[in-house]
Amino acid sequence: MKVFISADMEGVAGIVHQEQTGRDGMEHDRARRLMTAEVNAAVEGALEAGATEILINDSHGTMRNLIPELLHSEAEYIIGSPKMLSMMEGIDDSFDAVILLGHHSRMGQSGILNHSFSGKVVTNIKINGVDYGEIGINAAIAGTFNVPTVLVTGCQYAGAEAEELVPSIETAIVKQTRNRVAAKNLAPAKSQALIKQKVISALEKRKSIEPFKINGPYTVELTYIHSGFADAAEVLPIVEKVNGETHRFQADDFITAFRYIRSLISLASST
Ligand SMILES: [Zn+2]
Repeated sequence: MKVFISADMEGVAGIVHQEQTGRDGMEHDRARRLMTAEVNAAVEGALEAGATEILINDSHGTMRNLIPELLHSEAEYIIGSPKMLSMMEGIDDSFDAVILLGHHSRMGQSGILNHSFSGKVVTNIKINGVDYGEIGINAAIAGTFNVPTVLVTGCQYAGAEAEELVPSIETAIVKQTRNRVAAKNLAPAKSQALIKQKVISALEKRKSIEPFKINGPYTVELTYIHSGFADAAEVLPIVEKVNGETHRFQADDFITAFRYIRSLISLASST
């Protein structure tokens, strides 16, 4: 059994603020330790459930968060950015299950540190009329390779967002959001124990969880936080302007749609 884990940071227990998640934050290095420990707990669970290969993709910010000398020896780790599939780099149809660890709800919803790919640039991503954040889009990338996303770990709103997409998915709720920058957390040891146990139960039932797919062709509407970002991104010839802050484009396959989303965000971020 091959297991793919995308490891983000905002949904890790004990992390509630950009001081922890931001590269230059005073608390960032301590937050990286918490993230690494939750990843190690997931690896332990996967091994206990019978995984023979485990690939972790560091998927937060710089994507250089996991601390190499503290990592579990029985997995492999993709660290660094940029990567074509970003938070899902490394996924392919040889995997049996995907775990989204430390994930968070989408921009505009409740949930600790909620955002969609770039909290500084993106207000909303709508695909075929439905709003999606990182959980939905990352699960749909796995779905294009026919791999089910079996577990999401994070706050209660991240769990609810995942269950809305995949009702039979497992969730590990390691903190209760009180507002965007405050949460009631499990202690790290408890959070890690919960993640290990939920990884085992999610992998045991993986065959009963359908891969999550968004059916194509795709019409994507990307709304930016202000019109300056749209102005910078409209150099990409595929876009049509819906209004000052929103672009629309079409794509036939989901990976192409995702690559356009990433391209538009990168161009917008260049301002
Ligand atoms: Zn993140």
